[in-house]
Amino acid sequence: MKAIAIVPGTKTVHFVDRPEPSISRPDEIKVRVLQVGICGTDREEVSGGRAEAPKGAQELIFGHEMIGQVVAVGEQVTRVQPDDFAVFTVRRGCGSCLPCLMNRSDMCLTGDYRERGIKGMDGYQAEYVVDTEPYIVRVPRELKDIGVLCEPMSVVVKAIDEAVRLQMTRLPSAPSTPDWLYGRRCLVSGLGPVGLLGALVLRLHNAEVHGLDIVNADSARPQWLSGIGGHYIDGRQVAAEKIQDTVGAMDFIFEATGVPKLAFNLIDALGRNGVYVLLGIPGNDGTISLPAAELMQRIVLSNQVMIGSVNAARGHFQMAIDYLLQAHPRWGAFINRLITAHYPYADYAQALFTHDPNEIKVVVDYE
Ligand code: BGC
Repeated sequence: MKAIAIVPGTKTVHFVDRPEPSISRPDEIKVRVLQVGICGTDREEVSGGRAEAPKGAQELIFGHEMIGQVVAVGEQVTRVQPDDFAVFTVRRGCGSCLPCLMNRSDMCLTGDYRERGIKGMDGYQAEYVVDTEPYIVRVPRELKDIGVLCEPMSVVVKAIDEAVRLQMTRLPSAPSTPDWLYGRRCLVSGLGPVGLLGALVLRLHNAEVHGLDIVNADSARPQWLSGIGGHYIDGRQVAAEKIQDTVGAMDFIFEATGVPKLAFNLIDALGRNGVYVLLGIPGNDGTISLPAAELMQRIVLSNQVMIGSVNAARGHFQMAIDYLLQAHPRWGAFINRLITAHYPYADYAQALFTHDPNEIKVVVDYE
């Protein structure tokens, strides 16, 4: 079968021929890949950044955002059956720490986890993949066209869920509100697919959502944000430290740019008792200087929380599916416009290296 491989640490990416995988255990599932999403991590990998081949191999099949159709199941499998649409999760546990033994490798303690298509395990840019039942999530048929968004959505959902849980635990008044996010002023920094999916979840909770980016207001990403009732802030016109004065203090900041200077400057926009989640992963491009004393003062004197969040567990994929199902009746096919381009797998290079200013999510098709 055809697959697309990279040589980690280099810019090499090419087609490879691999044996078609087949089921060899009763808990395995074979899936025909339909679509694979391209994200910032893939682009970092193909430019020589963070990626690791499986043990003993030189090459890694990349790709970690997928949707496929089940073609065969082992006799013990109950979660899916042939013909179902489904996605596989990304991370595989280290096998020794308690979170991994609980299928919560997103919280792995040892760091010895693997990630399909990213770290030590082949990914989904291939015609077929096989994996075991704990890692499969069935996708309802009505979400078939946007099911490839389940993975980035799962990462978003975990981050927001953690922020809300923290607030519910530490704020005396939070448990007396039915939904802490309802009506909250939230800032999403970076309107790529992750930022926009974050905005979507927050809007589904009827939060007041402001999205920050540095593109023209009439381009696709700010337009998509306004389509779901969010408000655009052009960072070229409003500096991070002026956001609080112009828009108001934020109860929640969701950082999806991975730009360190901006990320830390945005602490100025966070209100008292606010929560700030960092999701964007920066490359290793040097150090910056920060007004550290002022930032520490703000965080301490205002009871603020700053957390990092990465990856997602199977349960977050289920939650992602629920949110996508809720989004459809509210905004209809408008949601599907998050996917702005499809490329047949023969044109994977275009999917990886074309940067259209109106691009949101780009998908490689195997159908
Ligand atoms: C993926 C996550 C992964 C993270 C770190 C992200 O792009 O969506 O699943 O854990 O990269 O490798």
